[in-house]
Amino acid sequence: MIRIGIPSALFYYVYYPMWKVFFEELGAQVVSSGKTTKKLLDNGVREALADACVPVKVFFGHAIALKDKVDYLFIPRIVCLNNKTVYCPKFLGLPDMVRYGLENMPPIIDVRIDTRTRRNALFKAFYSVGKLLNAKSLKIFKAYVKARMAQLRFQKILRRGFQPLEAIDIIFNHKKIKPVTGDGRLNFAIVGYPYTIHDQYISVDIIGKLRRMGINVVTVDNLHPLLLKLQRYKLGKRLFWTFTDRTLRAAYYFAGRKDIDGIIHVTAFGCGPDSILDKFIQINNGSNKIPFMSLTIDEHSGEAGLGTRLEAFVDMVKRKKRSEQ
Ligand code: SF4
Repeated sequence: MIRIGIPSALFYYVYYPMWKVFFEELGAQVVSSGKTTKKLLDNGVREALADACVPVKVFFGHAIALKDKVDYLFIPRIVCLNNKTVYCPKFLGLPDMVRYGLENMPPIIDVRIDTRTRRNALFKAFYSVGKLLNAKSLKIFKAYVKARMAQLRFQKILRRGFQPLEAIDIIFNHKKIKPVTGDGRLNFAIVGYPYTIHDQYISVDIIGKLRRMGINVVTVDNLHPLLLKLQRYKLGKRLFWTFTDRTLRAAYYFAGRKDIDGIIHVTAFGCGPDSILDKFIQINNGSNKIPFMSLTIDEHSGEAGLGTRLEAFVDMVKRKKRSEQ
């Protein structure tokens, strides 16, 4: 059986269910790299370009972890999926960075997906991957339909309040869990890229920490894409990069919600788009008077530093709420 490796980083938090189901329907075994660990991050930091952002370094670590366990690494070159915004250039160069930056890697499946250039670009991408694995056309089509259904189910579970890793657990490990909702006193929104918010190691488990303090946490991943689309920018135009645009829309949406007590922007050190995104979020949020904190994570982020800042922020929000009652 062919083993396909999918690194548990970057796109993993958004599209893993779709690709996993697709490959399995074609008879392949999907191997993911599991949770980020110190060793894995250290490997990524050592091998990636020094000025790469921390999520890319994490991705390198995950790719290295899969190196001797799989026949192929799956690293799609996703350019555009909505005909409007494009993914950050680091995503576009990812297959090449891994191919030429790391030694002795397995062959990389690096299909390009750009819905602006071809009709049915997504299906054609799946089709070309299926052909690479010598599958028959009908089998590829059936696998594609099942993959899209798995993705819809994943998104539905996210909208019920689960976070991506929980949704993946529910789908593939048949876990029966309820969404964690806190004690009802405080609601925090966490905005940022899914691969920074939900990687428990580099985010120092920010969601888990807040939940343990009794706070209900919502993230951009819990929002319906239509709801994000409907956000009107004060800027009057969308941002160029897909995840950056999505994060700004989510921040604007949360800033307008009366039940949100605090907004935290998790931003990655070395991220170009984040340098403007954080400012845009602050400009808008300033007029809405919701407490806001920006947390920058990097490869040296430590429990102590981030934990203390988080506790101080929560205390400040609680005091503010008490003073308003
Ligand atoms: S958007 Fe920022 S954090 Fe994400 S891959 Fe690009 S540079 Fe890195």
